[in-house]
Amino acid sequence: MSKSFFLGANWKMHGAPDGAFTPASAYRGAPQVDVVVFASFLDLLPCQQAGLRCGAQCARPEQSGTFTGDVSMAMLEATGIGFVLCGHSDRRLYHGETDAMVAAQARAAVALNITPVVCIGETLEQRESGKTEEVLRRQMETIQPPPSAILAYEPIWAISGGDPHKPAASTADAEHAHRFIRSLLPPETQTATRILYGGSMKGSNALDLLMQPNIDGGLVGGASLKPKEFAAIVEAAKKISEI
Ligand code: PEP
Repeated sequence: MSKSFFLGANWKMHGAPDGAFTPASAYRGAPQVDVVVFASFLDLLPCQQAGLRCGAQCARPEQSGTFTGDVSMAMLEATGIGFVLCGHSDRRLYHGETDAMVAAQARAAVALNITPVVCIGETLEQRESGKTEEVLRRQMETIQPPPSAILAYEPIWAISGGDPHKPAASTADAEHAHRFIRSLLPPETQTATRILYGGSMKGSNALDLLMQPNIDGGLVGGASLKPKEFAAIVEAAKKISEI
């Protein structure tokens, strides 16, 4: 298979986990496994100085302005940050970010050579009323992810919210959604675009999820804060990449 993976560690509003900066830290990735840590703004520079690849959890598209508390894509670029999450469900829920805003963020990131990780996914209510594909199609049509974007399918109902026992989407459901999202991409980027799965990925389910043909990695929240759990996910990805 010889697949290479991308794992995003979304630390959300938590500090760097113990041992994250050590030479053998799993947050440094492995051959064929790119790891990027999405740290809080305050932790980005220490992460960078420790040699971790890092990304921001959000940023505004405007260069500068009266946006108290915000950080711009241009500021990320000036600091050498190469990745940014766009449209994470926490940002949509707590900060009112819309697909149109996510589209503007992704465009601004790409213009500065920052790779956007564009998050999409349906709520439980939308899933239960059979609207998953309709929602994903609408998000993709509005956002129009730039060709160099990474996509993250994050079914909101599967995001752990800190609960280590919350189940992820089944591998069949996740693969189905990923295949559908890929089918919405233009033919030129369909094969090369990485589509990550996010929603209660952990050591115990990573192998099954990452084995799916249309799952190219993960965006990991809760389990990324536990170094051993995260190391198990990196190990699973490494194992598959060696097949
Ligand atoms: C996330 O919030 O991006 C996420 C996927 O969280 P978790 O892995 O905890 O479900």
